[in-house]
Order: sequence, then C-alpha cells, then structure tokens
Amino acid sequence: MTKYVYDFAEGSKELKDLLGGKGGNLAEMANLGLPVPPGFTVTTDACRAYLRTGDEPFGLADEIDLHLERLERQAGRRLGDTADPLLVSVRSGAKFSMPGMMETILNVGLTDTTVIGLAGQTGGDERFAWDSYRRLIQMFGRTVCDVPGEQFDRALDAAKAAKGTTDDLGLDADDLRALVTTYKEIFTAHTGRAFPQDPRDQLDQSIRAVFSSWNAERAVLYRRQEHIPTDLGTAVNIVAMVFGNLGPDSGTGVAFTRDPATGAPGVYGDYLANAQGEDVVAGIRNTMPLQDLAGLDRRSYDELLAIMARLEAHYRDLCDIEFTIERGKLWMLQTRVGKRTAAAAFVIATQLIDDGVIDADEALTRVTGAQLAQLMFPAFNLAGRPERIAAGIAASPGAAVGAVVFDARRAAEVAADGTAVILVRRETNPDDLPGMIAAQGILTSRGGKTSHAAVVARGMGKTCVCGADGIDVDVHQRRFTVDGHVVSEGDVISIDGTTGSVYLGAVPVQPSPVVRYFEGTLTPGADPLVAAVDRILGHADKVRRLAVRANADTYDDAARARRFGAQGIGLCRTEHMFLGERRPLVERLILARTDKERDAALADLLPLQRADFVQLFQAMNGLPVTIRLIDPPLHEFLPPLDELSVKVALAESRGEPDGHDRALLDAVQRMHEENPMLGLRGVRLGLVVPGLFAMQIRAVAEATLACREQGVTVLPEIMVPLVGAVQELEAVREEALQLLRTLGVDARIGTMIEVPRAALTAGEIARAADFFSFGTNDLTQMGWGFSRDDVEGAFFTRYLELGIFGVSPFESIDRDGVGRLVRIAVDEGRRTRPDLHIGVCGEHGGDPESIHFFHDAGLDYVSCSPFRVPVARLEAGRSTVAATGSDTR
Ligand code: PEP
Ligand code: MG
Repeated sequence: MTKYVYDFAEGSKELKDLLGGKGGNLAEMANLGLPVPPGFTVTTDACRAYLRTGDEPFGLADEIDLHLERLERQAGRRLGDTADPLLVSVRSGAKFSMPGMMETILNVGLTDTTVIGLAGQTGGDERFAWDSYRRLIQMFGRTVCDVPGEQFDRALDAAKAAKGTTDDLGLDADDLRALVTTYKEIFTAHTGRAFPQDPRDQLDQSIRAVFSSWNAERAVLYRRQEHIPTDLGTAVNIVAMVFGNLGPDSGTGVAFTRDPATGAPGVYGDYLANAQGEDVVAGIRNTMPLQDLAGLDRRSYDELLAIMARLEAHYRDLCDIEFTIERGKLWMLQTRVGKRTAAAAFVIATQLIDDGVIDADEALTRVTGAQLAQLMFPAFNLAGRPERIAAGIAASPGAAVGAVVFDARRAAEVAADGTAVILVRRETNPDDLPGMIAAQGILTSRGGKTSHAAVVARGMGKTCVCGADGIDVDVHQRRFTVDGHVVSEGDVISIDGTTGSVYLGAVPVQPSPVVRYFEGTLTPGADPLVAAVDRILGHADKVRRLAVRANADTYDDAARARRFGAQGIGLCRTEHMFLGERRPLVERLILARTDKERDAALADLLPLQRADFVQLFQAMNGLPVTIRLIDPPLHEFLPPLDELSVKVALAESRGEPDGHDRALLDAVQRMHEENPMLGLRGVRLGLVVPGLFAMQIRAVAEATLACREQGVTVLPEIMVPLVGAVQELEAVREEALQLLRTLGVDARIGTMIEVPRAALTAGEIARAADFFSFGTNDLTQMGWGFSRDDVEGAFFTRYLELGIFGVSPFESIDRDGVGRLVRIAVDEGRRTRPDLHIGVCGEHGGDPESIHFFHDAGLDYVSCSPFRVPVARLEAGRSTVAATGSDTR
C-alpha cells in the first residue's frame, strides 16, 4: 500500500519529490539533531491523488491518526486537550519553493474550550490565547472556506477604533475575546455553519485546503513564470506550534548563512521580537538586523550561529533559515539552500571552491545561464547627478526606469501598451504577482530583504528596492510623497536594486561590469564579480564539448561575438545584406526582363557582397564563417502590395503614371504568395533565379582570396537554406564546387536542416553535405505547422494556460517532437557520413534548456546571437557536467 505520511525521523532532503522542499529539509534538520518541533509530512502523492479524485486517498486518514499520536507523544500534549492542548501549523511545501503562493494555517487545534487551556499553558496569558484563536478563525475562514479576508480586517479595524487605538497591541484579552465572537459570526454568516469545534476536523479540512491551494490562481501563474511543472502537487507539513509572540523574550526571524545579494560571507538576516513568523515574511513591521539579537538573547544568538555554520557545512551551500524563539528557546522552522542573486551565485560558487567545499565542476552546477544573462543587464550612469529622492534596501539588483503605478492591475494594463512601469506598494502580497511580472521594477516602503517583494523579485530576476521608509505611499490618491516631493501615477522614476537608491526621472543606464569585461574594457582583477564570472566561464570552456558560434552578419556584430568568446560564425543571413540602400539593386534584379539585365544587376551586387564577406572574414580571422545563401522570398525586398497599389492608382488617376512603380506593382502581384513562408524561398529561389547563388558563391570565393592576400586565415563554409531533398542540394553543390574549383578556393558546403523532410531523409542528404546546421525556427514552424510570425500573439497564451506546453516551442526546443526530428537527422546523417559536422543556428542555439538537449543529441556546436554567446558557453559547460551526473537544477 502507498505510504502517504512520513514522520520527520523517516524523511530526508533526498525525498524532496515526495516530501517537498520544506518537509524534506525539516526531516534533515531533525535527523541532524537540531531543535525542530515535532511533526510529520503528508506526501505529494496524497496531494496528487486528492487533486485527481477530489477525495483523500484510501488509508490517509488512518496514517494521519497514527502519526498524530506519535506527534502528541513527542510534544507531550494532545490535540483537543482542554487543559494542555497541542496546536499545530499546517503548511504547504512543494518540491520547488513557491514563496507565499500556497496556503498556511496556524494554531489549528484551538476551540472555545482549548483556548482556555492555552491561556493556562502560557502562564495565564489570556490575551495571547484569544489573539491566537482569532488568527486561526481568520486564516481558516479565508483559506478553507473562502470567507473574504476584508470582512475580518474590517472587524479588527472596528475593534481598534472602538478602543481608540491603531495598534493590534492596544487590544486586551476582553477585546480579543469579543473579536473572536464577531469572527465566528462572520464565519457562520458566510458558510452557514458554526466554526468547527473538533480539532481533528479542523486539521483534515486544513490539509485539504492546502492540497487545493496548489491550483490557486496565483500559484498557477507563479509556476508558469518560473517554468515549474504543473503536475507535481504540494506536500503538507503538520508541525507542533511554537510561538514567537509570547513576549519580549520571544521572537521570529529569517537568516542567511551568507549575504544573498552579494555573496559576501557572514551572518545575515532579519529579526522581529514578539512576533509570529508570518509577520517577517509579510514585511508588515520593519525588522531589526539579525546581529542585534545578540544584545537581546546572547544564548539563542550563539546557538543559532552554530546551527547556521553546521547547516552550511551539511548542505555545502548558502542556506536560508526561518527560526522562532519561544521564551528563550530556539526552534528551527525551516531551512533550504537559499535563493540568491545572480551575482551572489557566481561569487559564492568560487568562494566554495576556495574553501575546498566543492570542485570547479560542481561550481558549474551552482550557476545558470539565466543568471549570467541577468548579470549582463545595464546599471545606472550617475554622471549627470540625478536627484536621489529616497533610499531603501537593495533587495534585487539591476537598474529599472519606468512610470510609477500603484496597483498590480494598473501595472499590467499600462505595461501591456509597452510602457515601462515601476510598481510602488507599501508592501506586496501574492495578489500583486501579475503586476510584479509586468513591471520593470518594484519599490516598497516597508519590509526587509526577506519580505515578499524582495524574495519574489529576486526569484524573477527583477530589480527591487524595498523598505524605503521615507516614502509615504497613498494608493487611493495614486501618489507617494517623500521628502517634500510628490510623485504621482505616470511620473517616471529610476530605482537601483544594487544600491537601494531611488531617483526622480529617467537615469541613463550603462553596461554591466560583466559586459565591460567581455568587451575587454575591465579586467577580472578589478571586480570580484567579474573575477568569479571569468573563473567559472573559464572552467566551462575547459570542459565543454559543444563549440559556440555566433549568428552575425555585420563586422561589428562579428567582432563583438568574438570578444564574447564565439568560435566562429554559424549563421550569416545574407539577405540582411540586401536591405537599406541596396534595395534598388535588388529591385533591378527582380524587374529584369532579360538575362542581360539580370546579369548586370547581379554584377553590380557582386562587389558589395564581396566587401561584406571580406569584413566578416577579417573579424573572424582564423575561425570558420558560415555564409548562408539568400533565404527569404524576393518580394520581401519590394514595397507592400496595398501601399504600392494605392500609390500607382493615385498617380494614374492624376494622369501622372510612373513606369517604374507600375512595373514594381506588376512584379509584386506576380510574386504574391498566400503562404510566403512555404513558398519561393531558400534553395528554391536559388534554383529558379539563375545566377543568384552563383553570384554569392563567387563573392565568397573572391573575398577569401582577397583576405588571404592580406594574411587573413579564412575558413569559409557555404550553407544552403530550406533544403528538403538531396537533389536540391546536389544541384547547388555541383555548381558551387565547379565555381570554387575554377577560382582555386576550398570551402565546405553544407545545408540547413529546417524542413521536416530534410530531417527524415538526412541519410540521403548527408551524401551531398559536409555539414548540417539545424534551423530550428523553421523546423519548429513546419514541425508543428505554426506560423512563426503569427501564433505567439494569436493563441500561445491560451496554450500555456492549458498546459499544452510549458514554454513556447519557439523559445525552448520541443524535445519530444521537433527534438525527435533533430535526433533522427543526427543519427541518419552520421550513418552516411560519420565525420558530418553538425550544429544549430535557430534561436534555440542560445536557450539554456535547449543547449542541454543539443549536447545530449551529439551536436558539435550551437550558434546564437552575440549577446548570448557567454550564456551558451556556460550552458555548454554545464551540459557536460550534467551529462556526467551532477544535478544542474
Ligand atoms: C531557422 O529557421 O532556424 C534559421 C536559423 O533560419 P531563419 O531564422 O533565418 O529562417
Ligand atoms: Mg530558416
């Protein structure tokens, strides 16, 4: 029979799939002998079964009975005992952390009778007991029975107003007892039944509510944003309650074993005396630095530090920790390998190498390409001395500029028009998530580095400044005031998540130090982050099997790509060279009525193409350059049909016909295609327009010869686009070889694999190809039958909502379908020609997930845009290490 419940003594961090991160780590701490309150975990299996059937799986209730008994024995208290009641927390905990996205219910076990027992248990602290009870009714009502939270908030506000206080602490035991009565009335009015007085019933309902919260809207949205699979489910942790709100010798806090923003070693965290855990994370009150706990309670502080050192050594990584002190006794409530900024990830990974904790291979598993991409974001240029109007806590790095908005809905609306926005809130909560996703950055006036805003922003790689307490946010008036300034909705501000500064107006931005390092204007010695990136990337280069090339078709792009570490050009889209002022020449080619006219147009294009290639070859001296013959339909070089029709019609109606425009219009009409993406393009064009490919091949050959004369080493590769049959490639290849032979130039000739038929007949095509390069943009388009230009806006959002795919297949390779075509082509191509050189030059070549796939599929290189080259180098290295067994997630 499936086992659905694990005592902490039975679990471990290795069982994360089953026990979730929180449950697995609680078990790990308990088994290390750390002070964890007794508890047990209901597995994700149980959650999935519940979500599937709407009912608890058979046997779960009995198992809970058994574990509850054990918990009661360990705690020395019983659930529902009127004299000395056990209270438990019921918390969600999925495999991947989803901060604040699912539900938690505290103080389960309180009833009209046990509340009296609780007061007795806490030395007659009636106020505390009634406050705990009203919190339970509120949390249970909202979470389990969907009672609108505002109804409880209003009742609390009314109680405070009646007492003439604005602070919860202004309410005494009698006030809170009365509030409990009101809360119970609210509960009954909404649900039609009394607040449950059976603690076991409270527990069962709470567990079910936590299961269901896996599918809460905000949780679904968060998973989509973070690419977390939808079918994992959450575990539920039932833990004996400990209280941080029992007076000044109690409190609660969050701590990191290193600074999660910079990676600097040392203890770091926030502490809030006389408070419950949720108060810190919610950012409701401003916290004190963890170090100040030493002055309040030295013994607990020292014990906490010792535990933190132990956890870091055990996990071999930065840990974050939630703890509570109940009347001078320290309890560990949670730990996990902590989220960190991208910069901290690199710095910590190299520190851990230096400390001898991990080796360089493992360091590669501690950083990601997405983090490196984030570090390539720009920062503010302060040379113009912008006006700094406030300072807060630097919670998530980056430089964000945008128009101020004060609520999530508005943020999403304004951002939908393409306007950059900064979401400004007193503090954020999970309902703000859509606005946080839409915003460039987030600014809050309350809360520390561990507040909701900070944690979520860091997870998303968004700039965030929080706890800027000089700012007075007035959401209703849609403005904030600070230091005599009034900033209204729509006003532009700039926020610096690296320093915590807030500036009025748009501050110009400058490149990141990491980009300056790649550009060669900053040495690794000048900046510890750059030194860490240099070291880790250096190791990735050492271990990776995949080469990294760039997609570039100008000298500047090629030169930049080379500075960023590209080992050649994997795709030069020659059609880009036909645009701009050369358009008239292409028009002449298209309008040519005789062979002579066409040859003359091509002859005029030849020197221009040759000059283009000379530049690329110079930039890539000594490295291979893949020139792809022209791909798109020729009419893309002509004006749009409707525009031209109107122009011609107007001119003719005025009696001023223009012969050139009329001829152009005739050509556009003649060439019009219903589905140009499936029409006369690529190799088809080359076989239909005599001399076009030959001109390009001649330009490659002549540029090669010219460069060689200058001492430049050229390794030219000629690539044929859109091939579907070996005969197409053979025809071009024969002509190319003849021409190259005549000119005395050697070049590799290969093909793109971007039509499904090419993938399926790759064994034959390889007979005529020295290399393959997967055009995964077209292969995805034609594999799925999705128009590249239309579908992402048309229905991908719905498809993502429906879970048909977790991420757009144009962004990350569809391993099962398009990926299968890739694998077939690699296998069959190499069967014909074992030395076939194979790469990819579609957008997926720079996508971290896809790079791992291409490594596994046995490709030789990936080619991507110059800015993604460092990311691809890192991910290629990570692929090698992952393939040899380390965990890369
Ligand atoms: C591709 O199809 O993946 C490709 C690289 O070619 P293009 O994007 O130019 O069609
Ligand atoms: Mg293509």
